[in-house]
Amino acid sequence: MTGKKDPKAASVLNKDDLIVIGGAGGFIGGALARRFHDQGFTRIRAIDKKPLSEWYQRVPGVECLCMDLSREKNCRRACEGAVEVYNLAADMGGMGFIERFRIECLRSILINTHTIESAYRAGARRYFFSSSACAYNVELQKSPDVQALKESDAYPAMAERGYGWEKLVSEMFCQEYWAERGFETHIARFHNVYGPWGTWDGGREKAPAAICRKVIEAKDTGAKEITIWGDGHQTRSFMYIDDCVEGIDMIMHCDTLIATPINLGSSFLISVNDLVSLAEGIGGIKLDRRYDVDAPKGVGGRNSDNTFIQQVLGWEPSTPLKEGLKKTYAWIEKQYKDRKAGKRTVS
Ligand code: NAD
Repeated sequence: MTGKKDPKAASVLNKDDLIVIGGAGGFIGGALARRFHDQGFTRIRAIDKKPLSEWYQRVPGVECLCMDLSREKNCRRACEGAVEVYNLAADMGGMGFIERFRIECLRSILINTHTIESAYRAGARRYFFSSSACAYNVELQKSPDVQALKESDAYPAMAERGYGWEKLVSEMFCQEYWAERGFETHIARFHNVYGPWGTWDGGREKAPAAICRKVIEAKDTGAKEITIWGDGHQTRSFMYIDDCVEGIDMIMHCDTLIATPINLGSSFLISVNDLVSLAEGIGGIKLDRRYDVDAPKGVGGRNSDNTFIQQVLGWEPSTPLKEGLKKTYAWIEKQYKDRKAGKRTVS
């Protein structure tokens, strides 16, 4: 292991240092706010453009601001007094969203552009950017039998149109703020993240949540069939949310990883068909499969090469998919039942 011995916020920051989290009304930002709160940090500022009633998690004692971070004035306000700034805000969703709404995805460039400048001007010590595996060259991801992606595979660049290019350019901003201005930035390329408190319905949800919901719905309605996007052979890896926020914390506080994009994802590859079987197993049901080959399905295969993160942090996301999916399924089932009963739910 290189870098600091224990590179985490708890060992690097004072408990009253101000931590700013953009996109904290969403899945990962909300989980990060909760993590820092549970660790005893007393000054956390959470920001999201959604009205407070739509935030996935509202953590007691955390300052919540509803502001659009694509506007410079708001970013200045958001970053006032910040010691660390985490940018988890983006207009995004699963394949159904990012293939259809490329302009919205590209516009997230404004969020990073103004937030990083504001963090720099505010004198923040560190800045974190949430990049994505969609920044990788799509030519390398055609086959389900994919070779895991290593960090250097982003170039020569041929990112996912819209969303992936926005991530790649924002990464470059982070690298240049360090190179030209000496502002410490950290960049993680997330591979599919799933877990409780994530989007599970409405069009922005990703495969694990969508599949759990469909199985739960079939059980409830007595439907015999499940619709799968694509031919079901496409492969992915899925990282549980607890691993994701732990990884963010480690990456942000590792000196070796300044301005250096790194994979943050599971290296356990699974096909969508097998993911459906896992969810069916949890639900105790077997469904007939109907394949919608015209639906958005993304690249043929994608996996995370974790050689670099292992080398630098001596760690990688390790929650077994079966275990994480069980917790996710249970949480979505409760959301589903609550919604049916007319109660307030997430997404
Ligand atoms: P999410 O949609 O749950 O959260 C993003 C939040 O950003 C939302 O609550 C949204 O309202 C907010 N937001 C959007 N535009 C904003 C603006 N202009 N000002 C303020 N807030 C704004 O998504 P998530 O899964 O939590 O993703 C967080 C970050 O991680 C994003 O940058 C995303 O691109 C990246 N990422 C996520 C995954 C994944 O699998 N979830 C994979 C790769 C990368």
